[in-house]
Amino acid sequence: MTAGMHRRFLIVGLLAWLSAAPSPASAQSSARLSDALVARPEVRDALAFIDRNFEQQVAEWIRITEIPAPSGQEAARIAHVKAELEKLGLTPTVDGLGNLTARRPGTGGGPTLVFAAHVDTVFPVGTDIGVRRAPGGVLRAPGIFDNSASVANMLQAARAMHAANLRTRGDILFVATVQEEIGLKGMYYWLERNRSGTDLIVALDAGLGPVMYGALGIYWSRMVFTGAGAHTNNSRGQPNPARAAAQCITDIYTVPLPAPDAPVGAVYNVGGLMTGGSVVNAIPQEVTFSVDLRTVDPQLIQTLDAAIVAKCEAAAAVHKVGFARQWIQRSEAGGRPEQLSERRAHPLVQTAVDVLRYLGVELPRGGEAQATGSTDANVGVLNGVPSIAVGRSRGGDPHTLSEWSDIDSARIGTKQIVLLAATMAEVASR
Ligand SMILES: [Zn+2]
Repeated sequence: MTAGMHRRFLIVGLLAWLSAAPSPASAQSSARLSDALVARPEVRDALAFIDRNFEQQVAEWIRITEIPAPSGQEAARIAHVKAELEKLGLTPTVDGLGNLTARRPGTGGGPTLVFAAHVDTVFPVGTDIGVRRAPGGVLRAPGIFDNSASVANMLQAARAMHAANLRTRGDILFVATVQEEIGLKGMYYWLERNRSGTDLIVALDAGLGPVMYGALGIYWSRMVFTGAGAHTNNSRGQPNPARAAAQCITDIYTVPLPAPDAPVGAVYNVGGLMTGGSVVNAIPQEVTFSVDLRTVDPQLIQTLDAAIVAKCEAAAAVHKVGFARQWIQRSEAGGRPEQLSERRAHPLVQTAVDVLRYLGVELPRGGEAQATGSTDANVGVLNGVPSIAVGRSRGGDPHTLSEWSDIDSARIGTKQIVLLAATMAEVASR
């Protein structure tokens, strides 16, 4: 990066800082990436530590991936994280739900910065989670990308700061969350108990790319159709919940969505889970299907949800069966980009963009930061805590058996954590 670029960062940063009204503690300093900051010996040492020890980091990344950790059964992975952070002289605690928190004390006067990496995966016990090395510097395994890469990155960033004696004014909290994949449950639980004393949240959970500062609203519903049931021999003319469910699914697809190129979109997926009767020769007494509805627009998500439920109610009435919507999960939308313009200008967002650029990550012009996200950061966004989600590595096919990650880009994901700590928790003077 050139000196001119740094000057631009500083000017942009200053403007953002003036307009963003951060907490009093963090308002006192510039907390930005600069030539001076990256030239500091402890920052350089920490970054060099990551390069020097990258092979060990990859070995640990593989090891973490091969510890089964379905949502709700993360204890073994948490135990690994705990043991490693204890080696750095930290004293991690595990809360009632299983989230781990390790506080790295600052020298005082800076904001408390939380790094949160979820340890759980969507893969049930018994899934083959063995890691294979593939050509092109790639690792393949369920969970290798989402999210064991972030867990390994976070541990290595903690080691790098420890080895380089990089001190910050603000406290840094390393948090390993549980049950992220089933509705951000771990983070909701955690923030409820740690809201005071949390100034900034960085969720480590995405592909390297744009900084996400919003929250994708996610409504997961189970549509339940019920009836008396009847033996096939007596089925003629009898109400059938399956027929109502089928009618409803067909009708849901008539609910209009924003055009694919609209500034704010919406998506839904019907039938990710479906259940019906238990025998061939009877009308089922209960038929259910799921709806997964998503948009960042708080009004739109409610309008669409109401329209979908109305279709189900109408189908149930026509077919003379019962209907109830059960919530599986409900996470509110953070807002349209124009509703979040102040959030976008926050130093946390702008600094994260600067850090990625400094590390050579190409970001789309105008799309460096996006008002969306479906990570632990959503919980912070919805609770008014300046929060972002940033990436771990380059990879793809998350939540599938063919999940993969590029190896070398995890180095960038890790350096990013160190630089965010040094800027946002404010590296302490010596
Ligand atoms: Zn994830």
